[in-house]
Amino acid sequence: MDVQTPDTQNFPHLPEQLKGLEDLAENLWWSWNPQARMLFKMLDRQAWKESGHNPDLMLRNLSADILEKATADPNYMRHYDLVMYHFNRYLRDAPIGPEEKTGCVAYFSAEYGLHHSLPFYAGGLGFLAGDHLKECSDMGVPLVALGFMYPAGYLYQVIKQDGWQENYTQEVDKSAASINPVYTADGGQLRVPVSHINHMPLQLGIWKVPVGRVSLLLMDTDMEENEPELRSISQRLYTSDPEKRLLQEIVLGIGGYRVLKALDIDCRMLHLNEGHAAFALLEKVRELVENGADFDQARQQLREMSLFTTHTPVPAGHDVFSFEMIEKYFKTYWPRLGLDREGFLDLGRHPEKPDAGFNMTALALKLSGRANGVSRRHGSVSRRMWQGMWPDLTEDQVPIDHVTNGVHLPSWLEPKMRLLFNKYFGEGWLNAHDNPAIWEFIEEIPNCELWQTHYWLKLKLINYIRHKARNRWESGEADSSQITAMGTMLDPSVLTLGFARRFTPYKRPDLIFRDLERLKKMLNDPWRPIQLIFAGKSHPDDAQGHDLIHKIFELARNPETAGRVAFVENYNEMLAQYLTHGVDVWLNNPAPPMEASGTSGMKAALNGVPHLSTPDGWWLEGYREKTDEQGQTIKNGWQFGSGDEIAERDGEDAGALYELLEKEIIPLYYRAGEDGTPHAWVRVMKETIKTNGPKFSARRMIKDYMRKFYDAQ
Ligand SMILES: *Cc1c(COP(=O)(O)O)cnc(C)c1O
Repeated sequence: MDVQTPDTQNFPHLPEQLKGLEDLAENLWWSWNPQARMLFKMLDRQAWKESGHNPDLMLRNLSADILEKATADPNYMRHYDLVMYHFNRYLRDAPIGPEEKTGCVAYFSAEYGLHHSLPFYAGGLGFLAGDHLKECSDMGVPLVALGFMYPAGYLYQVIKQDGWQENYTQEVDKSAASINPVYTADGGQLRVPVSHINHMPLQLGIWKVPVGRVSLLLMDTDMEENEPELRSISQRLYTSDPEKRLLQEIVLGIGGYRVLKALDIDCRMLHLNEGHAAFALLEKVRELVENGADFDQARQQLREMSLFTTHTPVPAGHDVFSFEMIEKYFKTYWPRLGLDREGFLDLGRHPEKPDAGFNMTALALKLSGRANGVSRRHGSVSRRMWQGMWPDLTEDQVPIDHVTNGVHLPSWLEPKMRLLFNKYFGEGWLNAHDNPAIWEFIEEIPNCELWQTHYWLKLKLINYIRHKARNRWESGEADSSQITAMGTMLDPSVLTLGFARRFTPYKRPDLIFRDLERLKKMLNDPWRPIQLIFAGKSHPDDAQGHDLIHKIFELARNPETAGRVAFVENYNEMLAQYLTHGVDVWLNNPAPPMEASGTSGMKAALNGVPHLSTPDGWWLEGYREKTDEQGQTIKNGWQFGSGDEIAERDGEDAGALYELLEKEIIPLYYRAGEDGTPHAWVRVMKETIKTNGPKFSARRMIKDYMRKFYDAQ
């Protein structure tokens, strides 16, 4: 598998000695290698900041002067040579040579969260996919990824004066990001036709994002030769229009499979990240049937080479299309699979709601040979949810396994924290970071050093929040109550809880406000106050999510909470980095069992930010408490409320949260030693890092995928 992009000369003004910067800027490897990022930053700090840490954009706008100056600076050139050496060696020395594996894994996902300069994500599913690619690249797992080029990205959130979320479109500048067209031999951009669905002629333009050694191929319907209504298919992520959404999924699945064929990519496995891409399975069946198999044989063959990962127990997370719409687009297609109308529609019937429409999760489960949830509990919840599809099996026997999510460590471990670990963990620790023994060296780090690093990150977060608020103030569009709500009054010496995720009812962002008087006592305590930082978007169609944002924003600008509640706009990858590195505690309070996994808490834990969560998702596997030699209980974070599935639980869960904060968390935080370091708190930080770091790394996750699925045939 080799996807070529010829020398495109994106930066004609680059001096010969710095030509390598072009390759570097065009491969997202730079995004998880601090030294590579430093190379761009060193050229011009201000330009780096203004570009939003996007080297492609920055290089385009940088004057030839500055570049010439860099070539004359021996310090810069030394740094340049070192980074280029590591980059080229990384690309060359795949730990698993392609010769050892025949064919690669084709990974399909509707969204990818890789860096904020590529806004092709809505949330957790996308980051999971992005981290999957980065880790496969690091490990040398042969994989090619398929996704969408969304010209309009995902929504950009602004909270208006009236406290309601307003959605803006953030246009993607394809020429100023690490994206390049995939070219054909004659020099034009590769086009892949998808024409056999209802005879609609549609040309997909193909783009490539190099993610280290892995290629992400993005399909774009916004091509001149397409009819206007078809051009807009890929315009926006998770469009609300059901027909457009069906077309998106046709493009993702069927188009995606055709892209593999057009590029002659031989894959031994199709891995569907969520049901959006399930039509890819049909296309494989069609290919086999057209080569002489009957449907059952084709299905059997497909089973041996397919994996479906389901991501949510929330019904809205499973797409269902009306049978009429499916008929409209597939009636000329099902004969080619050797199926009639009923046989085809049966593939998408939900076992308990067979007439509700064509369910993409049901389709994926029926056709793929293997399936998994994304945490241990989510595996068992999924087995229960879908047991009806296997009426002869008991719940335990339902063939849905699990692989607990993990996060790409080099992407989410803050560079200063990484330097600290480098100092105490020993040479080469990053190459074996899923080995728990290495993390025992956390004990070597003096408490005050870890605490100071954390405190520095907290200052950095608060400065960033103030910087964002200052920009809004300067624009003259926001009044002082809005600016306060955005976090200008945050105090770095105060115990800070962070809550950042999609705003939707089951995640209960407002749980901590349940008993406002009790909370206010904690916020306004003269000696040991707490403060809360919120961030998150809600999907344009989620009215309750909008209400939640409005409610919290109003509380954030209410003087009674004394500037100790903040809502920071436009939660994205950059803000997620600052928040997961810089708060003191990461709050998470979904109503069990709705959180399939969650990953932001893993990002926080890695950086010494303990998780405070209801027992749900990954935290059921993460939370630990033990008793040391002195009989002291040592924890790696906190857990509150019940994990059972009970109705009307908010009052009890909130009560348990207050109790834990008042009795345990707040006193622990403010109990500093004579040297100013809260040693007992740092003890929790160390436990947090060493127990969760290796276990919830994408390295461990990819190894699980390999052992259970990719290599287990
Ligand atoms: C990690 C991440 C998420 C997913 O976090 P959850 O814990 O699943 O909510 C969502 N958005 C951004 C920007 C992230 O970085």
